[in-house]
Amino acid sequence: MTQIDLREGIVAAVHALTAHNLNRGTAGNVSARWNEGFLVTPTGFAGDEIQPGDIVPMAFDGSWHGACKPSSEWRFHRDLYAARAEAGAIIHAHAPFATALACIGADIPPFHYMIARFGGSTVRCAPYATFGTQALSDQALAALEGRCACLLANHGMLVFGRDLRQALALAIEFEALCEQYWRALQIGQPVLLDEAEMAVVLEKFGSYGQQQ
Ligand code: 13P
Ligand code: ZN
Repeated sequence: MTQIDLREGIVAAVHALTAHNLNRGTAGNVSARWNEGFLVTPTGFAGDEIQPGDIVPMAFDGSWHGACKPSSEWRFHRDLYAARAEAGAIIHAHAPFATALACIGADIPPFHYMIARFGGSTVRCAPYATFGTQALSDQALAALEGRCACLLANHGMLVFGRDLRQALALAIEFEALCEQYWRALQIGQPVLLDEAEMAVVLEKFGSYGQQQ
């Protein structure tokens, strides 16, 4: 994979987020691990405006080069790559259902077995911190411990995968799960799965799918 391929992959992921209604306007950002650092979307661009040449190469010390300023959220991208060796690509979105739930500020409980897809028996909601701050990055990393997705209170969602393809698939699945939880809450009190059942499901997810 060349740097150009990866830049094109990031732009394709941004377009897919718009197509799936996960992001609108300049909300959200996407990155992929690259060499000794990562490539990240530029700040303040609407998804349909971003071109491969606008993607910003960054190093772990926060330095960057190129024509455009990096995403204001570069700290949580940087900190996640540093802390989680399995992270190859990261997606942050203000997806409608995830964001609605994030505004309630509560973890998502095991209302559906697919919660385990994201690494545990809940998906946590990181406490609120101002966008673009180190405090937000610290809260997000704590909420992601043992997980590959979290809510950011009063803000949106954060998801990572081994590569852009997996990160995008997880972001779409997570938004679908948030919508299902939101819909269930409209018609009653969702029945929660217990810890023993979630442990069984977590174990099964270890060998689920094509394992590629
Ligand atoms: P950027 O345009 O700086 O990536 O910011 C968008 C965003 O979602 C901030 O949280
Ligand atoms: Zn945001």
